[in-house]
Amino acid sequence: MVKQTIQIFARVKPPVRKHQQGIYSIDEDEKLIPSLEIILPRDLADGFVNNKRESYKFKFQRIFDQDANQETIFENIAKPVAGSVLAGYNGTIFAYGQTGSGKTFTITGGAERYSDRGIIPRTLSYIFEQLQKDSSKIYTTHISYLEIYNECGYDLLDPRHEASSLEDLPKVTILEDPDQNIHLKNLTLHQATTEEEALNLLFLGDTNRMIAETPMNQASTRSHCIFTIHLSSKEPGSATVRHAKLHLVDLAGSERVAKTGVGGHLLTEAKYINLSLHYLEQVIIALSEKHRSHIPYRNSMMTSVLRDSLGGNCMTTMIATLSLEKRNLDESISTCRFAQRVALIKNEAVLNEEIDPRLVIKRLQKEIQELKDELAMVTGEQRTEALTEAELLQLEKLITSFLEDQDPESRLEVGADMRKVHHCFHHLKKLLNDKKILENNTVSSESKDQDCQEPLKEEYRKLRDILKQRDNEINILVNMLKKEKKKAQEALHLAGMDRREFRHSQSPPFPLGNPEEGQRMRLSSAPSQAQDFSILGKRSSMLHEKTGMREEMSLGRQEAFEIFKRDHADSVTIDDNKQILKQRFSEAKALGESINEARSKIGHLKEEITQQHIQQVALGISENMAVPLMPDQQEEKLRSQLEEEKRRYKTMFTRLKALKVEIEHLQLLMDKAKVKLQKEFEVWWAEEATNLQVNSPAVNSLDHTKLFLQTSDSQHERSQLLSNKSDVNARKILPSPCPSPHSQKQSSTSTPLEDSIPKRPVSSIPLTGDSQTDSDILAFIKARQSILQKQCLGSN
Ligand code: ADP
Ligand code: MG
Repeated sequence: MVKQTIQIFARVKPPVRKHQQGIYSIDEDEKLIPSLEIILPRDLADGFVNNKRESYKFKFQRIFDQDANQETIFENIAKPVAGSVLAGYNGTIFAYGQTGSGKTFTITGGAERYSDRGIIPRTLSYIFEQLQKDSSKIYTTHISYLEIYNECGYDLLDPRHEASSLEDLPKVTILEDPDQNIHLKNLTLHQATTEEEALNLLFLGDTNRMIAETPMNQASTRSHCIFTIHLSSKEPGSATVRHAKLHLVDLAGSERVAKTGVGGHLLTEAKYINLSLHYLEQVIIALSEKHRSHIPYRNSMMTSVLRDSLGGNCMTTMIATLSLEKRNLDESISTCRFAQRVALIKNEAVLNEEIDPRLVIKRLQKEIQELKDELAMVTGEQRTEALTEAELLQLEKLITSFLEDQDPESRLEVGADMRKVHHCFHHLKKLLNDKKILENNTVSSESKDQDCQEPLKEEYRKLRDILKQRDNEINILVNMLKKEKKKAQEALHLAGMDRREFRHSQSPPFPLGNPEEGQRMRLSSAPSQAQDFSILGKRSSMLHEKTGMREEMSLGRQEAFEIFKRDHADSVTIDDNKQILKQRFSEAKALGESINEARSKIGHLKEEITQQHIQQVALGISENMAVPLMPDQQEEKLRSQLEEEKRRYKTMFTRLKALKVEIEHLQLLMDKAKVKLQKEFEVWWAEEATNLQVNSPAVNSLDHTKLFLQTSDSQHERSQLLSNKSDVNARKILPSPCPSPHSQKQSSTSTPLEDSIPKRPVSSIPLTGDSQTDSDILAFIKARQSILQKQCLGSN
């Protein structure tokens, strides 16, 4: 058992604006327990607290200042916990802090750079790396991803996520067994055999969370997310299984209602979050007070799920995320206060070992059989019926293989059946007698020969010697032939391999072209690692399928989407990542080629060494010299070249593996960004369509009518386009000229946006009558107008 208080760490987020001096200081040396001092500026101190305290000091296990990178956080906070989980203890890491303080950044990671990946992906990488290294145990890994929003649990990995809205999904509920163990109904566990599979699950869950989020339910700030790695391990042959769980928790923003200051529905929601965190706080207060017998775990779903993590069987770590800017000081102080209480909680982690009943049954069955046999033997229980033909045959086979077995330890196992034991003895006796008779016969015939053919004796001896000589010659020749044949086969094999390698190197490890569209990387150089990158393609389409992004867009909408994308703030990140991805792909391609080269070089060097060795031996034989024990200089040189080449191969291969992980991660980031972009586009598009319908009475009475629209010079084309029903020619309407000041003056009864659009009565534009398509078209025109207008204003 490991007794430990919850470990608390603080992480200060870099400020959005320039560094603000004097708001906090970190003292690392104070009796080896670092402390964080938050200093209130005088103006704030007056209004903020009654007693006008000006500074607050909090102790933490360690404090990570703004410049601490994700690697440092993982190494110092998550790696030790992951290590305990691998050893069979439960672990929990939770991030607590106000919205925007960096909880998600710390737990999951930033959405932009590979180096920004957070604790979850790094922990997965570490755990799978360790599992690969340890061949003494059999491990199984499962993943679950739970979201708690408004006290309801949702399974972020539920395959029905794509089809249903959040409210329609079955809620995850808590069941408690008689031993007070918590079970979660409707939360799926997904087995992950590799890091990639686990990462895909993480991204799938995150994407599902993002899709479910609407402006009204900002799940990302108001919900709690618990990503759990379930690990079980057992030694081969043993019936004892170890189970350990690692919860990685991204809590809702800890800010309070008072500050949020919103009314109505939002306020109710805000209260709900606080309710959840409020109950968490209640549990923490109860636990930190001595002699409290009742701990109110059952009050909320989150505290029920995290019951073991809080004062129970778990090694728990808290990360207080702090955004130490002037306006956030009150929230930061309350985060630190919360952490101080958490630090008082004592946990008792035990090894979660369990006997697997199935394995025990198997072992016991074997034991029972052995005991039965032994008993039958001891009690002398007799079986009277004769052995069948098949049984006899089987026994004789057993005897033959027993006699042929060179292992002195081998045993003749026939079970506790005296009939069989007797038969074995009989059979062995028969074999022995047969052999004796045969030997006698040979000896007697030889002696007869001696008697009868004494004169031929000399001749016979001569002939026998010659025969022996010939036999030797034949043996030597056969051996030589064998060697030649082996060499030829090896050469053929090598040539074959070369061809295969050549073929592999011909098909580049990463097909060029459009790298971001889910390419496949083939690691031809290592069969064990040769999982091709098709998983990326699969994953990408899986993400899209799961998130309902399969829907085809009309061309008009596509064009609007392109423009939306271009002007979107995230497009820079996507483009940057595309560039990085391209670089990584070409690096991986080059590496793949070099690896193939190194491998064939290794093959050739090996062949050369063998040749060299054969030559040496042959020379030794021909000159009647002993085979030299030490390799000669030439061979020595070849061997060191071989070692060097092997080292090079290994280095390149390690790099390629790392690249593979990075590419995978970048692609997932980009997929996520694309889904986000598309989601925002849909919202914008719907808004535009609604605005248009509200602002334009004509649109409201669309039903199979013709609409007069204010268009500019390319009106004819537009009317053609729109009457065409299809959006195929949508691109023809571009570009549209800017509104002239003159035409602007003419506008009278229009919306603010339309005010700046030239208005001249033009020919009618028949719409399709399909209200969906019509509103698409109208929204598109509207959007184009607004974009063009912006562009024109910009150029003016
Ligand atoms: P929270 O989850 O607490 O609401 P986020 O993790 O979403 O906050 O962080 C808010 C923003 O700040 C994000 O854009 C994130 O990338 C950025 N951020 C947070 N912490 C850091 C950090 N340590 N270094 C750089 N950027 C950070
Ligand atoms: Mg967050």
